[in-house]
Amino acid sequence: MVDPRLSTLDEPGHLSVVEVVGVADDLIAFGHRYWARSCDDDGVEIWCHTLSELYAWEGVPFGRAPVVAAAGVRAVLADERCPACGGPLSLRDRETFERYLDGTAPEHCVDCDHLFVSAVVNQSSAGAARRRARDRERAAHQRAVEAAAEQWVGLVRSG
Ligand SMILES: [Zn+2]
Repeated sequence: MVDPRLSTLDEPGHLSVVEVVGVADDLIAFGHRYWARSCDDDGVEIWCHTLSELYAWEGVPFGRAPVVAAAGVRAVLADERCPACGGPLSLRDRETFERYLDGTAPEHCVDCDHLFVSAVVNQSSAGAARRRARDRERAAHQRAVEAAAEQWVGLVRSG
């Protein structure tokens, strides 16, 4: 399912983001945004985008974000193997990675988590694609409403 040749970025903390082959572009794009890390002014690694930002841009609810991300990419700990299956140790969500950085290694990879995997596979359905498109539309509409409200407040203040 995951093509290791498509490893697109090797990040500090040995987290590699690997694109899933043959899935919708919006899933891959969301996966990259979900797992993107950069350094703040003090050189501390942080998530590039908060879950609130991802919700505002894409309309993906917090609880569904790891599922949608995993449908597009796998975040893999480069130097580790899954204790359960011996395969690459992919991470279910950001919290799992944060726990790993704090010293608690995951018990298994994404593919050994069968309930999670079935939710991830569901994202490939036409119904799930329509739902994501509706979520994006709703988010775009909400942003437009907020922008218009800000503009209106600006007009009232300047007028
Ligand atoms: Zn495994």
